[in-house]
Amino acid sequence: MKNNITTIGGGSDKSSANMICIVMPAHNEQDNIRASIEKINEAFLALDYDFEIIIVDDGSKDNTVNEIKSILQGYPVRLIKLSRNFGKEHAIIAGLDHADADAVILMDADLQHPMEMLPEFLDKWQQGYDIVYGYREDRRDESWHKRLFTRIFYTLLNSGAEIKIEPGALDFRLLDRRVVEALCSLRERVRFTKGLYAWVGYKSIGIAFMPNQRYAGESSFNRKSLFKLGWDGLTSFSDLPLKMMSSAGAIISFSAVCYAFYIFARTVICGVDLPGWATLTVAISFLGGIQLLSLGVMGYYIRNIFIETKQRPNYIVEEEIASALCMSKRNSAE
Ligand code: UDP
Ligand code: MG
Repeated sequence: MKNNITTIGGGSDKSSANMICIVMPAHNEQDNIRASIEKINEAFLALDYDFEIIIVDDGSKDNTVNEIKSILQGYPVRLIKLSRNFGKEHAIIAGLDHADADAVILMDADLQHPMEMLPEFLDKWQQGYDIVYGYREDRRDESWHKRLFTRIFYTLLNSGAEIKIEPGALDFRLLDRRVVEALCSLRERVRFTKGLYAWVGYKSIGIAFMPNQRYAGESSFNRKSLFKLGWDGLTSFSDLPLKMMSSAGAIISFSAVCYAFYIFARTVICGVDLPGWATLTVAISFLGGIQLLSLGVMGYYIRNIFIETKQRPNYIVEEEIASALCMSKRNSAE
């Protein structure tokens, strides 16, 4: 099962560190959240670490918040309730901002991330790795179109990029305190967290695993939101779409010049003939399409600039409740 992939940067001494914070973004997880808390608690009772679970409720419309409140006092749980649904990437930074521990473990709230991997994550951290991440052993359980979309996305994202992003790497990962601080210092609004993990660097190692089936309920990500996430990731981490549009423009202009020479030579040799309206129509609509597409791509980059210049916060906390069992010193939201 184990497989080492990436090694970047240097290590740090973790021998005296023992406070771990589990950060868990949750959106409409009413049937999963209780089991998630219980299973994490069970896993940590067998480990020699103090721990705390930070659940970031990302604007759930179901009973998730009430479920957390009803179980909270029995466990070291801190609830950060956001004022609306900001999206998983923003819920993650909210959790990291509130985590005061030697290391943070990010986990989904649907029990897809196996608890059995926690001891291995912690062992690797003790060995000096700053990021220990789970990556998908394979994608056999996914539909062919999701696999195809993922492959195209990562090929585009990584082609020519200085910082490579591991295609199968998930948000399920352990982050050392200094990685958390580095991530918290990146306040960009169009967030693609998988890219940010790669961008901050540090000594990393991947462990292969197969995610479990969802314990209950359905994924919050449909095709449309996955496409939006992918497009945000691509336009916030890569200028490849802009380069592709420039290249398409150059190729089409060159072809048009060649065609003009051909028409000129044909007219000189064979004389003028009227047919050709179909070619013209196709050429005009094709060029119109390319121009609109290029404008759209450029527009998206401008939209990202527009969002960033407003400098709005990444999230707004509506309510924060901590169980009396919470170990960390922080008791209020920033
Ligand atoms: N999630 C979130 N905000 C959202 C969507 C999802 O906090 O807008 C959380 C969700 O509750 C879960 C994790 O992000 O803990 C992963 O979401 P999900 O299981 O729906 O995605 P998938 O596993 O299908 O990629
Ligand atoms: Mg899931």
